[in-house]
Amino acid sequence: MKHWYEHAIIYQIYPKSFQDSNNDGIGDINGIIQRIPYLKSLGINTIWLNPIFVSPQVDNGYDVADYFAIDPRMGTMKDMAALIEACHHAGIHVIMDFVLNHTSDQNKWFQKAIEDPNSKYHDYYIFAGEKNQRPNNWGSFFGGSVWEPNPNGAGEFYFHLFDKHMPDLNWKNSQVRKEMLKIAEFWLEKGVDGLRLDAFIHIAKADLRQNYPIANYLNKVDKTVIAEPFFANLPQVQEWLRPFCEQIKKDYPEALLLGEAASANVNLAADYTMKENHLLDNVVTFRYFEDDQSKIDLSLPPEYQPKNLNWSAFKQNQIIWQQTLAEVSLPILYWSNHDMPRLATKEAKTEVQARSLAILMYLQRGIPLIYYGEEIGMKNLLFTKSSEFNDKKVEDFVKEAKKQGKTTEETLNMVSVSHKMPARGVMQWTNSQNNGFSNVKPWIKGIKQNNVNVQVEETEPDSMLNFYRKLLALKKEKLFQSGNIYVLPTDSNSYVYRRDLDNISAIVAVSLSNNKEKIEIPHGYKNVMLSAGKYHINNDQLILMPYSGIVLSR
Ligand code: BGC
Repeated sequence: MKHWYEHAIIYQIYPKSFQDSNNDGIGDINGIIQRIPYLKSLGINTIWLNPIFVSPQVDNGYDVADYFAIDPRMGTMKDMAALIEACHHAGIHVIMDFVLNHTSDQNKWFQKAIEDPNSKYHDYYIFAGEKNQRPNNWGSFFGGSVWEPNPNGAGEFYFHLFDKHMPDLNWKNSQVRKEMLKIAEFWLEKGVDGLRLDAFIHIAKADLRQNYPIANYLNKVDKTVIAEPFFANLPQVQEWLRPFCEQIKKDYPEALLLGEAASANVNLAADYTMKENHLLDNVVTFRYFEDDQSKIDLSLPPEYQPKNLNWSAFKQNQIIWQQTLAEVSLPILYWSNHDMPRLATKEAKTEVQARSLAILMYLQRGIPLIYYGEEIGMKNLLFTKSSEFNDKKVEDFVKEAKKQGKTTEETLNMVSVSHKMPARGVMQWTNSQNNGFSNVKPWIKGIKQNNVNVQVEETEPDSMLNFYRKLLALKKEKLFQSGNIYVLPTDSNSYVYRRDLDNISAIVAVSLSNNKEKIEIPHGYKNVMLSAGKYHINNDQLILMPYSGIVLSR
């Protein structure tokens, strides 16, 4: 392996929630600097920061008003330089989030675009429609139409895939592509080691005159629909991204380009990451995880109902992603991020299961990406007011559930375990009132759902935190970095794979069930490298107690 990032173990930091150094209730860059010794001791070697640019925070920083400055609530340019330097000194690489599909409506480009339709900035965004007629029926990911009237009253609309305060950039315009490259290189020049390209799969859109065909299609534009095929993974994404990535790799050959490709299937992921295509190094897909829809209450919209993972689909997806990308790129291995519920809330029914699922995921071939707090077993917060979700769709869900006889409390309990916002709670450093995060109440409300915290876990040799340290140490071994992998044929109650490198080899076996699982393993694997929960090894039979996991070598 020739690049540093092929050995990356990434830790995702949601800066607003990690550590507040100036007691305003909002996490900041200096707070991250204070926690470098902790990061180092965990065994990670890379951090990815969610956006820290100047932003009105409509979408917690994904609405960027100024790409060349740090949001004052999180620090200054000087703080950022200090963070980069301190991280590098500690052997930690720094990756920044790079929002390239859209800006904030407060960005000066957009302000100029709406002020003057003849300014060059008008063509930096996507305007269409006239006489107050929306151009099509496409729906926004954040609810409602993708079209919002130009506030200057011209009768035209601007396009926004996310919040209406986040207008999409017009990547068709070569000037926009140049500006985005300039921004990316501005940060790489400051010493950041890579970029996470946010929502890059959406930069190209289909013909805006085309309504999306829906069932009982009436060709009406008043009912909106998420028209993914018209704005995700279109061929022009690759065409426009290629020169951008090529230039970056030319100027900064060691820069990691990590793309967020939420809905990309494995073949697209291969296209986006194969060397010959000169695009990205790796992508994060959301396709690993499919929900079990069988227990859904049909009287309510499905989105915010709690759901279990469909484990057999998960297993199948893992196998397919591992094998399809085997000769192409390193898969990104993760359980959760700021856009989904936490591992200890959703997938893991017990602490043992949280550990064995970490074994399962991170010892596969690929780059681990650990969401802050996962290593101590943090859960989603419980929100007691629907406004805390900052999501109009939740307000609608609560109303709908009330009609079906559910109390607000019952509904908020459901949404708290299925929504992304409660997964963004502050890091639980101690068990004190504000969790050692700040001396004042944090920006995010909500009740924590367990008392796990770093301070206590540091003192317990068998804590989750110390387990993660052992797991990451193992991940650094050559076998788990470079060995090949194949999954053994077991039923869907367990996930068992073998990793081989020259004459060294290991078996990773994890039970996905609440029963005692008997698993036949190849001969001679009896040295326990790491385990979670209880097990027995009898000759070549391994017995795993509920949700247990183990790593065995010969
Ligand atoms: C981020 C989200 C964000 C969206 C818009 C993403 O996919 O991860 O948190 O809301 O992009 O920027």
